[in-house]
Amino acid sequence: MHQPGGVTPHRSASPRTRDERAGRRSARRPAVLPRRRGRTWRGAPAVGVVVLLMLWFTPGLFQDYALPVIRPYLPNASAPPPGVGAARAPLGAPPVVEDAGGYRFMDSPDPGQPMVAYDPCRPVHYVVRPDGAPPGGGQLVEEAVAEIAAATGLRFVAGGTTTEGPAEQRAPYQPDRYGRQWAPVLIAWADETELPGLAGNVVGLGGSTPRQAPGRPFVYVTGQVVLDAPGLARVLEHPDGAAHVRATVVHELAHVVGLAHVDDPTQMMHPAGGVTSLSAGDRAGLAKLGAGQCVPQL
Ligand SMILES: [Zn+2]
Repeated sequence: MHQPGGVTPHRSASPRTRDERAGRRSARRPAVLPRRRGRTWRGAPAVGVVVLLMLWFTPGLFQDYALPVIRPYLPNASAPPPGVGAARAPLGAPPVVEDAGGYRFMDSPDPGQPMVAYDPCRPVHYVVRPDGAPPGGGQLVEEAVAEIAAATGLRFVAGGTTTEGPAEQRAPYQPDRYGRQWAPVLIAWADETELPGLAGNVVGLGGSTPRQAPGRPFVYVTGQVVLDAPGLARVLEHPDGAAHVRATVVHELAHVVGLAHVDDPTQMMHPAGGVTSLSAGDRAGLAKLGAGQCVPQL
């Protein structure tokens, strides 16, 4: 627990926004093509229709070649065109740190090996909804982002502010709001009225959405951090409150990139930890999470 002045403000859970995990990705097929009759089957347009029909009735071809190409452009598409913004090589490298354990990973049966991480070949875009932020809150968020970027080697890119509010089940692809790319990580100040998960003494929530392309490892495509504005405003009134609020944001961002809780209270990833800077275990885990695989197929 982060305990400035004896209050117990920091208890963070990590409900993930991963509404759709493995297997759901290719389960949906577009609606059956409308049947056309009579005169609409004339001339050049018919050629395209015939090709589509051939693909449709050759399910393997359709699934493997046609569907991935057209899926992002279908109404209610659930994913952008693959590889948006992806470079050929990682944009950065994690720092070399001593690894003596002391960390655990989200979404991983083997606590020592991350199964899901962000694609290091593309930036982690993020946007902030500043509404309700306590004084200085924006600066503390930027400092926390810089800390996680340095500890992972992932490149974080600020996308400015947004009016999007947090959600228990946030859509990872919102082309109307963010264009044809995965939605950026959302960092929002909120309260329990807007997000019931902030009820009680929870001051922060963080997590990400994993997705998988066939035959490739899972990667996180977006995430969100929700910060309890009233609770953290009270923390800021304490002498070392800023350090504790910054630590809360770092803790939630560490969830976003894939760290889970540990039992060791000297680590930042203790669910109610009192430390205000990353410890050895946190740093070792974050370095591993910065060395994920590039998956331009997503
Ligand atoms: Zn936590």
